[in-house]
Amino acid sequence: MEKRVLAASANPGKVKEIKAILHTLDLTIISAKEAGIAIDVPETGQTYAENARIKAEAYQKASGLIVLADDSGLEVDALNGAPGIYSARYASIPNATDADRRNYLLEQLKDKTQPWPAHFHCTAVLAGPAGVLAVEAGRCDGLIIPEERGSGGFGYDPIFFIPEEGATMAELSEGRKNQISHRAKALQALIPALQRTFNLT
Ligand code: IMP
Repeated sequence: MEKRVLAASANPGKVKEIKAILHTLDLTIISAKEAGIAIDVPETGQTYAENARIKAEAYQKASGLIVLADDSGLEVDALNGAPGIYSARYASIPNATDADRRNYLLEQLKDKTQPWPAHFHCTAVLAGPAGVLAVEAGRCDGLIIPEERGSGGFGYDPIFFIPEEGATMAELSEGRKNQISHRAKALQALIPALQRTFNLT
């Protein structure tokens, strides 16, 4: 059996992490770009799991491959869990960048009392031609801080501080982020399903 998995995302930061987290497996993870697949999948679900499944199934149909999709987001307690599933689209202006979204989040928080506890969530779905093979979730807890620290990672990483690490997610080495992140936890939990699917030992 062909040992290839398609990472169903157009976000290069995410795909890089998925490849690194699963690098110990005897599998080739290819990005949608590498597979020559450019589809726009509207995230119409109401939950991470629905959106991850929608993405996994759309990319599976487009590629015929086994597909790994992740839907993730940042949940801030003082904002009642926002931006949540809307994290990638959270901004007041069109064509916003990650930096615009971080500034917009800090703007929403400026009148709320600190500290600002938050967590990242990730739901990962593995799908094949017959449908969903496995679903797993992971989370990572921390605090939003009012100024950016570090240059690693992507998205909200520079303002997401993890007390146990004494660092923001953007200050961690790639290796460390890929041990403790929400995405790492969800994908590690998916490893048995990947091993079964590809007969890996
Ligand atoms: P989606 O899963 O493609 O809908 O996008 C998830 C969004 O959540 C990203 O665009 C980021 O804004 C945010 N996010 C998810 N995971 C991370 C992470 O590991 N670091 C920083 N931001 C993240």
